[in-house]
Amino acid sequence: MKVHNLLEDLVLKTVDDLFDEEELNGRQGFCTCHQCRLDVMCYVLNRLTPQYTVSGRGLAHLLADYRDQLQTTADLVALVNRGIQTVSATMRPQFAHDGQIAASEAALPDGPLWSFPVIEGRVLNGATFEPVSGVSVALLREGKLAPMIDRNWQNPYPVSDHTAGSFYFWPSPAQATRPEETMTFDFELSIATQEYETLHHFFKIELTSERTYSGSLHYHRAFKTDNLVLFPRGSSEELTG
Ligand SMILES: [Zn+2]
Repeated sequence: MKVHNLLEDLVLKTVDDLFDEEELNGRQGFCTCHQCRLDVMCYVLNRLTPQYTVSGRGLAHLLADYRDQLQTTADLVALVNRGIQTVSATMRPQFAHDGQIAASEAALPDGPLWSFPVIEGRVLNGATFEPVSGVSVALLREGKLAPMIDRNWQNPYPVSDHTAGSFYFWPSPAQATRPEETMTFDFELSIATQEYETLHHFFKIELTSERTYSGSLHYHRAFKTDNLVLFPRGSSEELTG
């Protein structure tokens, strides 16, 4: 059984639609880079009560179900617009915000490649089930830090207060030998801090290789990891004896 936050689908779709529209027409003049997109998504999700449901019920049901909570989708659009204003006013200076892959850093492979999805997840405190902040999450592949697609993405990722325990990675594509091949990639997430027990979380992503790099970010194919649960050091002694 998969439990899923349905509101998230609606938020991601609404943010994507508004950003895609802005990218095409540029009427409002806000930054449409992927980091700002993610920041706005986080802003909105952190201000709505999650609505969990068993997966299998889609977006169509959601609109009907949440008519009470969000009187119209216009309410959500208003919240997204507030998010855009806030994110624009506090744009992170360390990011390029140019929406372009920096060629020198990305080193995209020529020819067929494995294009990784955005990998996202959340860090929770196992004692309180509150989101954790002030820790760094490292994404490893083949025992090394996985290179990110450009300098807008950080690995290790510093989990801060304003992302409510969430982290995001977008690994750089890897060279494939031919298109239409299927392969499974092993990843590890690791968190090492003074405060919490060290955590290692392993997962796999299956990909089909692509002929060339399409260059666009598909939020809808984001890969979500299980929640990472950290336990304060010393709290599990009674279990491990
Ligand atoms: Zn930006």
